[in-house]
Amino acid sequence: MKNDKKGLNTICTHIGELEDKEYKGAVSPLYMSTSYQFEDVAVKRYPRYFNTPNQEALSKKLAALEHAEAAMIFGSGMAAISTALMTFLQAGDHVVLQQTIYGGTYHFAVSQFERFGIEYSFTTGWEVEDFEKEIKPNTKVLYLETPSNPLLTITDVKGVANLAKKKGILSMIDNTFASPVNQNPIDFGIDVVVHSATKYMGGHSDICAGVVAASEEHMKKVWQTGICFGGSLSDYTVWLLERSLKTMVLRVKAQNENAMKMAKYLSESKDVDNVYYPGLEKHPGYALAKSQMKGFGGMLSFELNPEIDASLFFKELKLIKPSMSLAGIESTVLSPTQTSHALMSAEDRAKQGIKDSLIRFSLGIEEVEDLIADIEQAIAKVKSMTVTA
Ligand code: PLP
Repeated sequence: MKNDKKGLNTICTHIGELEDKEYKGAVSPLYMSTSYQFEDVAVKRYPRYFNTPNQEALSKKLAALEHAEAAMIFGSGMAAISTALMTFLQAGDHVVLQQTIYGGTYHFAVSQFERFGIEYSFTTGWEVEDFEKEIKPNTKVLYLETPSNPLLTITDVKGVANLAKKKGILSMIDNTFASPVNQNPIDFGIDVVVHSATKYMGGHSDICAGVVAASEEHMKKVWQTGICFGGSLSDYTVWLLERSLKTMVLRVKAQNENAMKMAKYLSESKDVDNVYYPGLEKHPGYALAKSQMKGFGGMLSFELNPEIDASLFFKELKLIKPSMSLAGIESTVLSPTQTSHALMSAEDRAKQGIKDSLIRFSLGIEEVEDLIADIEQAIAKVKSMTVTA
């Protein structure tokens, strides 16, 4: 089916379907071949060329979801991000990266760029002016992430895209936290969108994948680098990802709703110090988020009162899982200091405002009343332990 401005659920369900011509099955057949005929064929297919039937079909769905001309699927979010950055950067170039980005992307920049002769600067904040201040004559890429991980800062997507255009620089965004359901950066002029599809796209905590989406012209370049780095995704996982994407809109909308209710509950709780959620009117990025997002997302962060030990709190949760990663249909919490941002120095974490007591909360699709009850019983238990001790 062609995407001539179909609704989101229709795109998720039907765009890029492979027809089962032989048996007329309802879902796309899975083609596991790693070897395809080379004679008398229009396309030379090979999994590492990102062009097997399943890879090619799913790419169409992903491009449609991000309002892009083309997309590619990778073996992880970091495979997508590193391939995309290395496509548009070379020795002698400079890249400006937002200060508050996913810890793995930060680690990639600080551990790898110097070896390749690529200069980089981190912004000191997340405003458009913070990006502008860092631009040098050799800057080739502006890299942003909004809402950011883990403090949910909001950056003006159109502002950064316009700045990049004015200076003749490429703009690239990590749209993982928002998902294409809540935010479409290409509509605001962003050149390249990257995703950890391990998160909302997969949505069930059982797929590791990544996506790059952009114009045909940019994607041709990403493809050239991608086939050298070899970070494509196996067809079986591509097929599973297609299955997951069919319900993405339903899941993400339920997660948005739960996050909003949970953020309101936590902000009113006397046991909680700070809540970071762009859907709360008191969040500094609220107005901007409202103008550029269709939903505020399923992620929030919070800090418990200092007298409540966060590590004991994690242990007492019965329903909410203290676990790595995010965006699954089950609710999870983690400590960024111990996990996603562990590779960052304590000093750099402090610069970003990431306290050791910060708890990142990924809302699932459970009834929010059950999640609140779990939090209340865990806090009560920790408090009783502290009193006894
Ligand atoms: N971007 C964001 C915002 C993430 O949260 C993550 C992973 O947690 C990544 C990128 C990297 O994705 P992956 O773990 O699939 O390589």
